[in-house]
Amino acid sequence: MAEFTMELNDEQREVRDWLHGFAADVIRPAAAEWDEREETPWPVIQEAAKLGIYSLDFYAQQYFDPTGLGIPMAMEELFWGDAGIALSIVGTGLAAVGVLANGTEEQIGTWIPQMYGDVNDVKVAAFCSSEPDAGSDVASMRTRAVYDEAKDEWILNGTKTWATNGGIANVHVVVAVVDPELGSKGHASFIVPPNTPGLSQGQKFKKHGIRASHTAEVVLEDARVPGSCLLGGKEKLDERLARARERAKAGGERVKNAAMATFEASRPAVGAMAVGTARAAYEVALDYAKTREQFGRPIIDNQGVAFQLADMRTSIDAARLLVWRASWMAISGKQFTAAEGSMSKLFASETAKKVTAQAVQILGGNGYTREYPVERMHRDAAIYTIFEGTSEIQRLVIARTLSGMSIR
Ligand SMILES: Cc1cc2nc3c(=O)[nH]c(=O)nc-3n(C[C@H](O)[C@H](O)[C@H](O)COP(=O)(O)OP(=O)(O)OC[C@H]3O[C@@H](n4cnc5c(N)ncnc54)[C@H](O)[C@@H]3O)c2cc1C
Repeated sequence: MAEFTMELNDEQREVRDWLHGFAADVIRPAAAEWDEREETPWPVIQEAAKLGIYSLDFYAQQYFDPTGLGIPMAMEELFWGDAGIALSIVGTGLAAVGVLANGTEEQIGTWIPQMYGDVNDVKVAAFCSSEPDAGSDVASMRTRAVYDEAKDEWILNGTKTWATNGGIANVHVVVAVVDPELGSKGHASFIVPPNTPGLSQGQKFKKHGIRASHTAEVVLEDARVPGSCLLGGKEKLDERLARARERAKAGGERVKNAAMATFEASRPAVGAMAVGTARAAYEVALDYAKTREQFGRPIIDNQGVAFQLADMRTSIDAARLLVWRASWMAISGKQFTAAEGSMSKLFASETAKKVTAQAVQILGGNGYTREYPVERMHRDAAIYTIFEGTSEIQRLVIARTLSGMSIR
């Protein structure tokens, strides 16, 4: 197990600088255009694929970095470039993790390459869990998967919403109910292969921020997938359901804890995205404050402005430390006894919202226009307190973990 360190090693520094170059030279210059177009930036994804940044290899290398800092460092740099474009690049990785975490070796080998496509024909993937009536309350999910034993096929019916890359993905990972009696313990994940009849895109959302990232409904109408598309396989599912039924009788704590541990481990990655956006806005504001003159001197000469910048940087560094701590805990298999993963996501996402608003204020009228990037960063930052569990849900998780009580 690697010791916790705040110092990147030589190899990590090299990767960080390489990613920063890509974010500065390719992502940032394209950000305003794709934000206005509200479309997936395929040419930028293709460029990332050519360099090896858009690939399972790259993602897996960062994911398995023994210090735990690979993913947060990569997320921070890419999202520093632009949040919407970066999400278009890493969205597939989030779906791939769903397969890596629950799939068999064969499923991983078959489907993950199809999620990325190849350099000349890049593809994306989507992870579809949320539904119109099941956002924070995942247990109220209604999309149903029914097994047709005669054909060894699963039949999926329901409507998923808010799916990043939903409908344009080559491969969709869909979470569905296989046993309605068991609540969230009766859910299973399925691969929906390319061109499956019965899967279609519903409405595409016009959003406040991260507009270069495609977000849409995914409608499943008698979508049939082969038995082999059940992640983990039928035998494992049957065993898991049997155990869940037993535990439901006995109280159900252990299954709940296993699911919580998975979330604790994935939330710091979203915190790192937020740190990237916050840092980007802070840097623009710092530069602006040093050069913009009013009353015959740079505006940073006023404590009212300088102290804001001091607070912004302090919060960003504190957020990064929480993210790195939780990422290190996840890779080291440490127990999240104080919901440290949720803490990092909560603090970093609230920091991004606050810091980007302060940046808009420091740029004055210019901050309010699309001539300057902080307006976009401020819109983008609002997503971090919503997806992967809202701030309220993070507080709920932290409070429950600290108290051991089922606070509502
Ligand atoms: C741009 C975008 C991309 C997304 N990408 C994906 C994706 O790829 N795949 C996917 O499956 N989902 C995705 N989501 C969905 C996202 O995870 C949900 O929006 C989020 O979980 C919140 O659910 P909701 O929108 O239904 O809000 P609700 O759950 O309806 O919450 C509304 C408000 O009520 C509060 N609230 C709810 N319950 C409680 C409670 N018990 N205590 C206190 N407050 C509470 C919430 O905090 C929130 O402020 C995405 C969402 C967006 C906007």
